Amino acid sequence: MNFDKQVVIITGGTRGIGLETVRAFVDNKALVILFGSKEETVASSIETLKREGRIVKGYYPDLTNFEEVNKVINEIYGEYQHIDILINNAGISANLPIEQTSSKDFSNIMDINVLAMFNTIKAVVPFMKKQNKGVILNTSSMVSIYGQKSGVGYPASKFAVNGLTKSLALELAPYNIRVNAVAPGIIKTDMVAKLPKEVINPLIEKIPLGRIGEPRDIANAFLFLASDMASYITGVILSVDGASKN
Ligand code: NAD
Repeated sequence: MNFDKQVVIITGGTRGIGLETVRAFVDNKALVILFGSKEETVASSIETLKREGRIVKGYYPDLTNFEEVNKVINEIYGEYQHIDILINNAGISANLPIEQTSSKDFSNIMDINVLAMFNTIKAVVPFMKKQNKGVILNTSSMVSIYGQKSGVGYPASKFAVNGLTKSLALELAPYNIRVNAVAPGIIKTDMVAKLPKEVINPLIEKIPLGRIGEPRDIANAFLFLASDMASYITGVILSVDGASKN
């Protein structure tokens, strides 16, 4: 893959799947800008990447606030005069039963997992339309296909991600903007480390490919979908889950 000088924005780029995706695009010559939630985590990931020989920029707009996101994206466009790829990867999960989930918990997860995606997409679309070219990739989840036994806000938000992906693929196709999502299975990141072993181990044992997914597995799917090899692919939710069925 060669993304020479293409400008790639990756949200939730400070750790886990997002950080590995940042590495993958930098290694394929892209100009990567990562978004994180806090100044400290953005600064420390930029530092880690710098020690690895990978140079990136970072910002920490409140993704749930359109004005803040729009300001940062306008700044990025002002500097490079193009924005080629947007990867919406920031997300939070939930696992409590419905009685222990407040309305505020529910709207919070919808805000971070769905509204944030709407905001970044709304901000880049005018530039991508002007370029008559763009790629938007979203992180969904296998729970967007199978649901989840507890923590309903999480699968609900990921079903919404799929709806947003498929609908915007139709809306933006006339402008040569492709919109796809990757639906990861169980991937070895902090999000999964937070789950109790008695919950996660039986799930891993059931994965047909016989192993937990690595962040690199998802980064590779993003590389493919962002590349010209996927130039006729839009509106797709690509499962990358070792054939997990939840
Ligand atoms: P992670 O917890 O390691 O990373 C989450 C990222 O999202 C971090 O970079 C964090 O800064 C960012 N983020 C969280 N809240 C934010 C906020 N309020 N504002 C801005 N950024 C925020 O998790 P991960 O496993 O790397 O998850 C990345 C994506 O993959 C998420 O969308 C998640 O739903 C999805 N996913 C993960 C798995 C898995 O098994 N790990 C499976 C399916 C889908």
